[in-house]
Amino acid sequence: MRFPRSVGSLSVALALVTMLSPRAWSEEGSSKYPDAVMMQKAAAKSQQSALVTTALGNNLYLFSGDGATVIAVADDNSVLLINSGMADRVTELAHTVYEAVQRPVTTLVNTDWHFDHTGGNQYFSSFGVTIIAQANTKKRIAAEHKSVRKTYAANNPSSFNVVASPWAAAVENPASERYALRGIPTVAFDESMTINLDNEELIFCHYGAGHTDGDTVVFFQTSNLVLLGDIFPGHEYPWIDVRSGGSLAGVIQTVDRVLSASNEQTRIIPGQGPVLHKAELQDYRNMLVNIQARIQELLESGASADQIIAAAPTSDFDSEWGGGDVSGQVFTSLIIESMAQGR
Ligand SMILES: [Zn+2]
Repeated sequence: MRFPRSVGSLSVALALVTMLSPRAWSEEGSSKYPDAVMMQKAAAKSQQSALVTTALGNNLYLFSGDGATVIAVADDNSVLLINSGMADRVTELAHTVYEAVQRPVTTLVNTDWHFDHTGGNQYFSSFGVTIIAQANTKKRIAAEHKSVRKTYAANNPSSFNVVASPWAAAVENPASERYALRGIPTVAFDESMTINLDNEELIFCHYGAGHTDGDTVVFFQTSNLVLLGDIFPGHEYPWIDVRSGGSLAGVIQTVDRVLSASNEQTRIIPGQGPVLHKAELQDYRNMLVNIQARIQELLESGASADQIIAAAPTSDFDSEWGGGDVSGQVFTSLIIESMAQGR
């Protein structure tokens, strides 16, 4: 295994304009905020799903049902795991991965900072696994630990909700700050990084902010397979985490980069769900671009956020794409919010 090769740097544009009111993470307020509701839905769904292993060939295995899609790739000396699932299912995940690859995990990569990608980080880190992430994802994982600790120190545990709670166990443990800090990536890259296993070349790419400001797309070059993480959740609207720097324009830009690097044979793995192909990613891109143009036009005509939502610019796409965690209305409000911040 050769790594890491790191290139380039990323600059994050700061948003100056706010059109919608700023969000606060309070329990009382969580039901009003679509991203908190979306995360609650994702967490509930994961609790009910069985963990399913799919062999992809060339010693690659896909595990679905435990939050974000997890992939393991093994060679004679190492096992690289992409995403660590939900915190409360990590022993089940670790056991299932071991059953598939018959070796312990040596390296873990998080494709974004959300709890359904990083829940098992502390567990794997406690076994000496090296954790790699894009630099902004590393920063956000580290910041989340700090903010939860601060909230507890203020003796006000009810002020954080489901978004922060996956880390609460670390804070409740009296073993201290050292424990709370475990699971934070120790290797970070800005734009790309390549890892060569004996049987597979992996390239991790960050094409700028999209779903968050730290998304990673993983190309399995030898197997002609690509994992998009939450940039492409499958046949549904994506969640755009505007608070984490996300934007629809960024999602489209990343999808375009993946489309141009793919061919008809490329297997495309969405953030959740089965293996898809380039044609499905192209359909998804067409939907995104259509909705983007409609909302842009309404904004330019001077319509307010409420007027745009009332105009239902996603309505003819909703039956096909609105069946996931993000409804057409929530998707519209997230796009307006990111556009209002100039992204
Ligand atoms: Zn995510």
